[in-house]
Amino acid sequence: MESSRWSFEEIQYLIDNYHIKTQAEIVLFLGRSHTSVSHKAARLGVRLTNSEIQRRAYIGNSKREINGDKNPNWKGGVSQHAYRYKLRQIAKFPERVKARELVGAAIRSGKIKRLPCIVCGSCDSHAHHEDYSRPYDVIWLCRKHHNEEHNRGRSDDSPRDVKFM
Ligand SMILES: [Zn+2]
Ligand SMILES: [Zn+2]
Repeated sequence: MESSRWSFEEIQYLIDNYHIKTQAEIVLFLGRSHTSVSHKAARLGVRLTNSEIQRRAYIGNSKREINGDKNPNWKGGVSQHAYRYKLRQIAKFPERVKARELVGAAIRSGKIKRLPCIVCGSCDSHAHHEDYSRPYDVIWLCRKHHNEEHNRGRSDDSPRDVKFM
């Protein structure tokens, strides 16, 4: 498991650099393990394109000693859509992204528990924040009811694929 919680700055660094730097560089910069970086990237929905994977494989071959973990989770071929979406989210709603991060970490560490949708009882629920400055003050809603909640009043603020990390 992760040794310590990721700060918002670290997450931003990871997202900003995942497509630019090699994982070894990111690992070095953040002082975290390959596993930790891979898992975090996966949870953030940051994935590499095919050509990037090929380029990495090539770089990996030339410096194999650095590339200790042989099986990073390159599932291949995923577009940069999620990445761009994430960047837009951070740019537009930094508070929201941060609040979701905090909730995700709190759930993983067992501090808070995911509950069923308060409207329909579906277990596929998301943490909805009325106020992002109170990150642990969440309302549990399924995707449908979460969308309804956000669409009430604020039209450009729809959560779409916000199933948090
Ligand atoms: Zn529901
Ligand atoms: Zn919400």
